[in-house]
Amino acid sequence: MGLLYLGTPLAWDDAKKYADHVRTHGITQFLHIWDRVKDKNGDELLWGDEIEYMVVSFDNEEKNAKLSLRQTEILAKLSAIVNDISSDNDNTIAVPTFHPEYGRYMLESTPGSPYTGYISDLLSVEKNMRYRRSLARKHLKPNEIPLTFTSFPRLGAPGQFTEPYHDPADAVSSHSLFLPEEITNPHARFPTLTANIRRRRGSKVAINLPIFFDEKTPKPFIDPTIPWNRSIYPEDPEARNGAALPDHIYMDAMGFGMGCCCLQLTFQACNVTDARRLYDRLIPIGPILLALTAASPVWRGYLADVDCRWNVIAGSVDDRTEEERGLKPLEHDRFVIPKSRYDSVDLYISEDWINRPEYNDNPLPIDEKIYDRLRNHGIDDLLSKHVSHLFIRDPLVVFSETIDQDDESSSDHFENIQSTNWQTLRFKPPPPNSNIGWRVEFRSMEVQMTDFENAAFSVFVVLLSRAILSFNLNFYVPISKVDVNMGRAQERDAARSRKFYFRKDVFTGSSPYSSGSNSPVDGAPRPKEKKLRNCFPPPPAPLNGDHKGPVEDEYEEMTMDEIMNGKGDHFPGLLGLVSAYVDTLDVEEEALAKIRSYLNLVKDRSNGTLVTAATWIRNFVRSHPAYAKDSVVSQEINYDLLVAVDEIERGARSAPDLLPKDYTGGNKDQGSI
Ligand code: ADP
Ligand code: MG
Ligand code: MG
Ligand code: MG
Ligand code: MG
Ligand code: MG
Repeated sequence: MGLLYLGTPLAWDDAKKYADHVRTHGITQFLHIWDRVKDKNGDELLWGDEIEYMVVSFDNEEKNAKLSLRQTEILAKLSAIVNDISSDNDNTIAVPTFHPEYGRYMLESTPGSPYTGYISDLLSVEKNMRYRRSLARKHLKPNEIPLTFTSFPRLGAPGQFTEPYHDPADAVSSHSLFLPEEITNPHARFPTLTANIRRRRGSKVAINLPIFFDEKTPKPFIDPTIPWNRSIYPEDPEARNGAALPDHIYMDAMGFGMGCCCLQLTFQACNVTDARRLYDRLIPIGPILLALTAASPVWRGYLADVDCRWNVIAGSVDDRTEEERGLKPLEHDRFVIPKSRYDSVDLYISEDWINRPEYNDNPLPIDEKIYDRLRNHGIDDLLSKHVSHLFIRDPLVVFSETIDQDDESSSDHFENIQSTNWQTLRFKPPPPNSNIGWRVEFRSMEVQMTDFENAAFSVFVVLLSRAILSFNLNFYVPISKVDVNMGRAQERDAARSRKFYFRKDVFTGSSPYSSGSNSPVDGAPRPKEKKLRNCFPPPPAPLNGDHKGPVEDEYEEMTMDEIMNGKGDHFPGLLGLVSAYVDTLDVEEEALAKIRSYLNLVKDRSNGTLVTAATWIRNFVRSHPAYAKDSVVSQEINYDLLVAVDEIERGARSAPDLLPKDYTGGNKDQGSI
């Protein structure tokens, strides 16, 4: 999350009166930014990760693992410590930053200052992640541990899952049947977001994940842990009136989604054109890496038939009204909106010829007035559509103190809408009054249990992004097919058992390959590069026949193994492309070994040699002696699971099906609980 402004947030009935005001001024702010930086060029590669943790409090007597709600104190302590370190820093490691997140048990950390294109920075990633973890860990209570774990298995389950205990009856913002008010970061922004989503929607959010039917799971499955007949809040009857589906795990609050942890990466691009190119090329990669990083098979105390968080978060912030969801004819609202404000990207935005108009085949409601305004300002069709599509949403949190802003120096109103469009990729314009360039954020990955894995996936995506721009790779498939892949990516065991739509010829319009020379695979070698690239080469003109045939002929369904490791002699796989790119670099022995160990992890996960975190967790639960084969993940199983996760991270327990044989664990000095 960005900086948190302290102020008085308006309840929905008041906030909505300012929706047009926020949108209008948000666009004015965007146009000021545009005028200032549309020609900004030559920005170097800067990039960084964001890692989210949940602080788990272990009760070794009761054998319970609970979420520790001490975020405020922990962050205060960590920022004091970080300030201390900064003042006598020997500069060997960038001083990290810790940020608040939605859950009162969550922390987010970033490297503090971004990495550069120097290859040696790739070696800092894992070190820095481990340093952040050990800093956090050192300053918690002895029985608390920061885990990089995507979804807390017993969030909202019966019994005590927070430390201290709070009764869900007090959930004045969400009106949840399961989650207490105190699950949410107390900063005014978060309870207001929670309440305003519910109020705008006209009901609680409703998330239904298919349950995983095990041998003894009752069929049909009618969840006995739902307080069906509670009557505290007006929405309490929703569950029994159809919101909670049979054979599903029902969740009814923002915290179930925004309380998940993930791994995100942000890249600064050379200029706005390259940012648009990189954004587009990474869109089809979103679901692939979601499937490969899948890490969340347990929800509200049950094994689910899905492995990922994505649809839970999408549902958890779905503020669309019944009219907007297409359940009622439009009367009060402006649009039928196919997706939640948290979902996959709807529009490719590059103006390169390889971006065929046919690929943008999703319905795309836009705010026409905003579109016209952007066009009249000289902005092209695709970018105008992108922004006017984001701006169909209402601002959810409006602070009374900041309604009137200086549109030349502020981007708050723009960011209000932009940063509550939570999509697989985010196209980030530079903030006003800064040297920061155009950035692209990759947001689909689930966080992994160890920093070795988090570093491996981060470095893989960085290198893939460099391969994309060095070779000008073409990953376009119709964007509706990316959405199909998003659905498949979340299914149980998708990385091993599902196929995904993927482009057959990734070299259509590419720079080195289509010209036949200077190719890293079969052409003359070029001098090795000392730094990671940050600018696309000028795209070649279309060859005769490029982009003439039917779009349907351009893609096919591939397994994860094929997408990552190659298919036939026409497609080297994403790992093949990354290796070809690494071959163009002048890499020292040590860095090369590290990079290889990262790429090997990605390879082993994609060809089935190693399992995903989700599969490992599911297997752990199903082979636990106390598991009754009924899909229930009890307090005891949860405790043992999270103890095991911590042990694996420290290298105190081996997990040969999850991690490479030579994995030796995080910092040894962390101590056990
Ligand atoms: P948000 O929560 O808005 O997505 P954060 O500030 O939490 O963003 O994280 C942004 C990441 O981008 C951090 O890892 C940071 O190091 C990195 N970063 C900072 N400045 C730049 C820049 N100019 N270009 C690219 N990445 C940057
Ligand atoms: Mg975050
Ligand atoms: Mg962040
Ligand atoms: Mg954020
Ligand atoms: Mg982010
Ligand atoms: Mg976006």
